[in-house]
Amino acid sequence: MTETPAKPAAKKTATKTATKTTTAAKKTTAKKAPARTAAAKAPAAKPAAAKKTAAATKTAAKKAPAKAPAKKAAPARKPESRVAMVRRARRINRELAELYPYAHPELDFGNPFELLVATVLSAQTTDLRVNQTTPRLFAVCPTPEDMAAIPPEQLEELIRPTGFFRAKAKSLIGLSTALRDRFGGEVPGRLEDLVTLPGVGRKTANVVLGNAFGVPGITVDTHFGRLARRFGWTTAQDAEKVEADVAEIFPKSEWTMLSHRVVFHGRRVCHSRKPACGACPVAPLCPSYGEGETDPEKAKKLLKYELGGQPGQRLKPPADYPGQPALPLAAS
Ligand code: SF4
Repeated sequence: MTETPAKPAAKKTATKTATKTTTAAKKTTAKKAPARTAAAKAPAAKPAAAKKTAAATKTAAKKAPAKAPAKKAAPARKPESRVAMVRRARRINRELAELYPYAHPELDFGNPFELLVATVLSAQTTDLRVNQTTPRLFAVCPTPEDMAAIPPEQLEELIRPTGFFRAKAKSLIGLSTALRDRFGGEVPGRLEDLVTLPGVGRKTANVVLGNAFGVPGITVDTHFGRLARRFGWTTAQDAEKVEADVAEIFPKSEWTMLSHRVVFHGRRVCHSRKPACGACPVAPLCPSYGEGETDPEKAKKLLKYELGGQPGQRLKPPADYPGQPALPLAAS
């Protein structure tokens, strides 16, 4: 699967798109009431509004007859039903599809073998660092046969920038040997075969199946797990349980693109430590609104990659990516 490099005009488009998106995000956030679900936290009232409310309360208290019956406390909101949660989840997916029509895997690859190797290398590091490392690696080892035959020390040197290079080199030589000896030098297109390869778990297998073979799969990485919990789609911490919970909410046909959209959102807006809630277009649908920065201007500054006007993670992004390509290792 060969990806086309971004056009030179991408920079301009990216800035435009980012500005447009964040403005739209701001508008949407301001327009829609963020507290739509039972668990949702209401945004802080504006000072002027708060002042007005306080004055109104004072006047009302003055006017109220001394013996006015005490008002009943508002009944607690009902917990969200399963049907309502599923509807809300699917709306989030639709909104994310509008926000990221160009969502894609953020690893550079040209064929299933390169994607498999890049995914193994992406453990404990960023896709950017993998993308900056693989051009040299694939120039030396373009096939499983080449990688199975390379001296381990040479492979370790080639993949050193991705960290944990000794363990990763061992996995890559092991999986390349298995591909050569058991699968005729081809990457198998079945989950049960992929997970038998050294260093390949369900997550890696799903990435390869979804993006190189068109088999629907949910990829639960750190971003997907975090957002699935923030959206209230699951309470599980375990990746396989998260995958199973999310699989029950969405039709199979959506699984691969849903994974990309959610991961895109996690990397750009809904960060682990400081989510940019005030610039988040799905805030009205998110029960975790308020976990991060709610001030629109401050939140806007937290946006990353094309939404923040910065280079992306891929050196060779797909043609429809509106941002700038990542810089090679030497230039970054
Ligand atoms: S940024 Fe805030 S509002 Fe948006 S998805 Fe994350 S927690 Fe929810």
